[in-house]
Amino acid sequence: MKRLIWVSILLTLAAVLLPLAFLSSPVEGAKAVVSPSPSTSPAVPESAVPSPSPPPDYSMDGDFFFKVKFGEGDVRSVSMAEYLPNAVAAEMPVSFEPQALRAQAVAARTYIIYCTRHTNPKHPEANLCTDSGCCLAWLDETELRAGWGESFETNMALMDAACTETDGRMLVYDGAPILATFHSSSAGFTEDGAELWGAVPYLTSVASPETSEEVPNFVTTVEVAPENFRESIKLLYPDTPFGEDPAGWLGGTELDGSGRVRKVEVCGVPLTGSEMRSLFALRSTAFTLEYNGAAFVFTVTGYGHGLGLSQYGANAMAKIGSDYEEILAHYYPGATLK
Ligand SMILES: [Zn+2]
Repeated sequence: MKRLIWVSILLTLAAVLLPLAFLSSPVEGAKAVVSPSPSTSPAVPESAVPSPSPPPDYSMDGDFFFKVKFGEGDVRSVSMAEYLPNAVAAEMPVSFEPQALRAQAVAARTYIIYCTRHTNPKHPEANLCTDSGCCLAWLDETELRAGWGESFETNMALMDAACTETDGRMLVYDGAPILATFHSSSAGFTEDGAELWGAVPYLTSVASPETSEEVPNFVTTVEVAPENFRESIKLLYPDTPFGEDPAGWLGGTELDGSGRVRKVEVCGVPLTGSEMRSLFALRSTAFTLEYNGAAFVFTVTGYGHGLGLSQYGANAMAKIGSDYEEILAHYYPGATLK
């Protein structure tokens, strides 16, 4: 009977954890993959089952440590107090509202904890790295002093406050820390996780209030000469049947529910918005594309993948009086702030 119960528990664990293997980390390109930790052996002797240990203390003076790969290979174990304020400082401008900085601190803390539970195949020796293109951005004191100059002490106090005022708090779904992705700005609506990874219950598309009045370079344009456009597309799809006249190359564009490009047809070949973003270094997949007779012109709105919290949206919400709890509840619907 006991044996059956353990098999049932292990199967339940596997059913809960395995779908997480298909989630990606917040910054484009990176994949956070769950290590196959729940044992698949059919039965575990009772004596071998560890008694439940108390949960780690994620607060600033807690006993929780995690491994970070700094730069090219320096892997060190660090505490929240050492790491989190500098991550917030690297990810969000210090000029942002205090409540936006707190929302960022919770998102970053949650992301860190999530990473300690899922092995990243890019650096299995460390839970996180300091490459913003892979995990979280992070700057050391020297780098922050170089950027902030005489304001270092004042600015760092704001980052510390964002962390201590939210100390130990994180977002959970189904009892587990969420993949708390965030991005710079969205064009009206955040992206639905289902468009990129399959449905993620707390990463659905929500309205985001930032506008070009408060976001620098909210709308950008990228112009590509026809021959460069053709050669770039051919990198991914070498057999694309390009005709002589560039005016005939573009077909229809399909948008997703958030207004981002799901697919665009080039000479009959459908490319995803993400493929176009990557090929032409676009700031987001919220773009229009036209040929003006001399060049292909992308007009792009917002910056980042669009999933989860929008940083400029959080700042806009804070400016009209939302606190960090309201901001997080808005951008991660269904997740609970613990
Ligand atoms: Zn990384």
